[in-house]
Amino acid sequence: MQTTEELLIERAVAAYLGLAVGDALGATVEFMTPREIIYQYGQHKEIIGGGWLKLPVGSITDDTQMSLALGQSIINTKSISAQSIAEAFNEWMKTNPPDIGLTVRRGLLRYRKTQQPIDLIEDFQCAGNGACMRLLPIALATFEQSSEIIKNANLKHAHITHPNALSDAACYMVIQLIHLGLKGEKNLEDLQRVVNEWLETNPQFEYRKKVCQNPSAFIVETLQAVFQSFFNTTSFEECLIDVVNRGGDADTTGAIAGMIAGAFYGKNAIPINWLEKLNPNISQQCEEQAIKIMQLRQQIVF
Ligand SMILES: [Mg+2]
Repeated sequence: MQTTEELLIERAVAAYLGLAVGDALGATVEFMTPREIIYQYGQHKEIIGGGWLKLPVGSITDDTQMSLALGQSIINTKSISAQSIAEAFNEWMKTNPPDIGLTVRRGLLRYRKTQQPIDLIEDFQCAGNGACMRLLPIALATFEQSSEIIKNANLKHAHITHPNALSDAACYMVIQLIHLGLKGEKNLEDLQRVVNEWLETNPQFEYRKKVCQNPSAFIVETLQAVFQSFFNTTSFEECLIDVVNRGGDADTTGAIAGMIAGAFYGKNAIPINWLEKLNPNISQQCEEQAIKIMQLRQQIVF
């Protein structure tokens, strides 16, 4: 029999592996339309690499890389330090990642120039999904913390590049869904009820009216696609296949759906052939970070 704590850590590992698997699966079809995906793959459901980044099989993109940079900062400092996180992101940018988002690049260049990690000027224009895609370490570190601590901790990584209210709202909702999964909530309708209640104050994210195909990097479209796939399927595998076959920003919809569905369905629900394809160095880092952050979480300074 596993203890409650062991089960919790297993779900945290599943969320981390889910993120990486979704990123790796989606990267192949990023920027393709659903029609192009059907033409080329029928249904895209294997981790095969390629895509516009010409990735080797099992490679991941900025979504997982930035999450790992953020996770390492939390582990190293035992805190959520905007300065340390900005430095970790900056070090990552120095590796010349080919798939760095425009908003992320702009935010990190601003940091290089000013040495101020947090951008205090709200950007009303650019509500991209670049903060939401990398928030998993924050979600793990803030498990069972107050909403105030969660929001403030999220801001310290998000506002380095995405000082935007829509992005903040989306991040907070995704963290809440991950927390429900970590708690062992097994009823999909209960999670859906939380999202639907949130829509009353965040109506832009309404996802029940129009099917979202080809979602852009706009956080609203990204989450609409993720919610539609997560709430209209009943397994990790179905959810991930559904979301990446919508094309568009498929690595990021895959990554966000992967962390939510990973926490909810657990590690055994992640197809073994996907886990085996994942770059072993990446899956090891994901697993180790998930375990360390969960073990550290009581000591973290927020
Ligand atoms: Mg990416």
